[in-house]
Amino acid sequence: MESYILGTGGMMPLPNRNLTSMLLRREGELFLFDCGEATQISLRQLNLKWKKISVILISHTHADHVTGLPGMLMLNAQVERSEPLIIIGPPKVKEYVNVNMQALDMYINYPIEVREISRPSVSQEVYRSEGYAIRSFPLRHSKVCVGYSFIEEPRPGIFHPERAQELGIPRGPLWGRLQKGESIILENQRRIEPSQVMGGARSGRKVSYVTDTAWIDTMPAEVSGSDLLLCEAMFAEEHAETAREKKHLTARQAGEVAVKAGGIRRLGLFHYSPRYTNRELKILRDECRQIFPEAFLARDRMLIELPFLEEGTEQK
Ligand SMILES: [Zn+2]
Ligand SMILES: [Zn+2]
Repeated sequence: MESYILGTGGMMPLPNRNLTSMLLRREGELFLFDCGEATQISLRQLNLKWKKISVILISHTHADHVTGLPGMLMLNAQVERSEPLIIIGPPKVKEYVNVNMQALDMYINYPIEVREISRPSVSQEVYRSEGYAIRSFPLRHSKVCVGYSFIEEPRPGIFHPERAQELGIPRGPLWGRLQKGESIILENQRRIEPSQVMGGARSGRKVSYVTDTAWIDTMPAEVSGSDLLLCEAMFAEEHAETAREKKHLTARQAGEVAVKAGGIRRLGLFHYSPRYTNRELKILRDECRQIFPEAFLARDRMLIELPFLEEGTEQK
């Protein structure tokens, strides 16, 4: 699984900083989180197979999060596509999609299914498919806004062939049945349970996406245990008052979210205020690192690999 940061800008795009968007790739499936202006340019630059996007998740209908969506819908009409594109978001997402399609007389040759989250103030599962689920949870912004967590199901434990051999289980189909979680009976009538040859279940990976919110007490628990938490860090402490007024997080607060949540392996900052040049972003990083030392600045078109815990190495 990998995350591609398509845009890290809040409010307005800058040269070399597109508006907010993140793409998640898992087993060939693509999930887009928000679709700010120029999202499709980042996709092109990364040479990603954008026609495979299955679900687009919108945090809220402020322009910096949705202005890339009409172009993305049209882009999808350029290729043969029969499977539906699912768009999930808080109320007004459907209206936004429909108004654009009508006013622009969009030629759309594939099914679009917009699913509005009818009660965005409640944490809930908004999508599920084989091996994973996506949950939304409430944020606190000047407009109805939600965060998302992409959560993989736990995987079976590791099979230990040496234990199987010690128990006298012949290599072959019986090993396979134990690996599938079935108990077996040996020729000597001895019953073997999978737990005798398998390690404990291993947790799946979790990616959380949080942007455009004031502090909200319920949020850290929602993102707890994330392999990657991508969290807005719009302002430095110097502008904490502006952050509070406009209902955004400071970089320091992003660190506090991670600490309170617990179990965060990586904290990526994004949705930067245009008042900071790319060089000045280190102020945000340093303020956040005082709280959560592993924080890093997400950059446009950055690739973040998300290996299973026991595989690969940490990428800083
Ligand atoms: Zn925003
Ligand atoms: Zn906003």
